[in-house]
Amino acid sequence: MNTKISRIVIVFFALSLIALLYFSFGSKKKVELDSGYQLVMGTFARVVAIAEDSSTAKKCIQIALAEIRKVDELMSDYKIDSEISRINCDAYKAPVKVSSPTFEVLTRSIEFSKLTGGAFDVTVGPLVDLFRSAQEKGVAPSKEQIAQTRLKVGYQKLKLDNQNSTVTFSVDDMRLDLGGIAKGYAIDKAVEVMQQCGATGGMVDIGGDIRCFGAPPKHRKHWLIGLQDPNKTTDEFGMGESLLVLKLTDAAIATSGGYRRFALIEGKKYSHIIDTKTGYSSDQLASVTIISKNATNADALATAVSVMGPEKGLALIEQLPQTEALLITLQPKLQLIKSSGAEKYINPDFQNR
Ligand code: AMP
Ligand code: MG
Repeated sequence: MNTKISRIVIVFFALSLIALLYFSFGSKKKVELDSGYQLVMGTFARVVAIAEDSSTAKKCIQIALAEIRKVDELMSDYKIDSEISRINCDAYKAPVKVSSPTFEVLTRSIEFSKLTGGAFDVTVGPLVDLFRSAQEKGVAPSKEQIAQTRLKVGYQKLKLDNQNSTVTFSVDDMRLDLGGIAKGYAIDKAVEVMQQCGATGGMVDIGGDIRCFGAPPKHRKHWLIGLQDPNKTTDEFGMGESLLVLKLTDAAIATSGGYRRFALIEGKKYSHIIDTKTGYSSDQLASVTIISKNATNADALATAVSVMGPEKGLALIEQLPQTEALLITLQPKLQLIKSSGAEKYINPDFQNR
């Protein structure tokens, strides 16, 4: 099970099934509906909708979850009939025509690759596979295997045709892996449909990557999100201690890090995030949290900054509007590194405890 859900914990709710709450918001009554955790995209998703009546809130939750499932059907590389699997199978032989959401994610992915100097790269699939099979065999990949595999990796080898919405690989045996961006994209699509459906506020959480919009829950000024301490051991459900609590309004947050998901090969931990320039996993930071205006940005940038490391990563974040970072260094010395505007998102009440 993907345990990224453990990285960020919503602190203002207990884990719940469908929970319905009525409250007064200014002069108007509001309804708050919580989907509880639902298994989707190999992890847990949770949607909270705030609306003027319960049928609107319920509908918003249903269409948000349906939207997340739709993105998963298109983009999962675990599902053999997904569009991404079809690309992985056929795109070297001939151009593969894809739907507009898949084309959009791939276009955004290439933009992030260019922005991050190749740190973010969805063509990483063959390297992910190499480490996965190395873990199964219990033998670390050789330098030669890494070098050979890297020949099948590189975003420049992925060709997108805007006119025809087709995707082509320029090298055989390439493989796309959207694990670093698809959750963020699904969150943004879910928020979009909730807003169209009439939600006045809401939150979408997929595996700990979260976007919230509009009115916060009852008696709150903001949506409060706990940031997990990656250096503290977690329980069997992946829940750990919160290092701090963030307050968000109309923003998204995503966390990447090798602290929960890694391959253990010959006694050495290899993070699931790979630097395609070296072919090895990137282990410079325990976790990277990005706050941004949308979840696609936050998700892709969190993965990219994990590869780029603290200096280059922070330098990039400082250049981007409405984007902040919270980096946590590896043990033994826990250090929280913040981008210049990150402080305003930290809830001082929790810190002082
Ligand atoms: P995240 O948890 O969002 O950082 O995504 C990590 C997942 O993204 C990994 O499990 C891989 O599926 C994929 N991935 C690994 N390395 C990279 C990379 N350099 N760029 C983009 N995706 C990656
Ligand atoms: Mg990511």
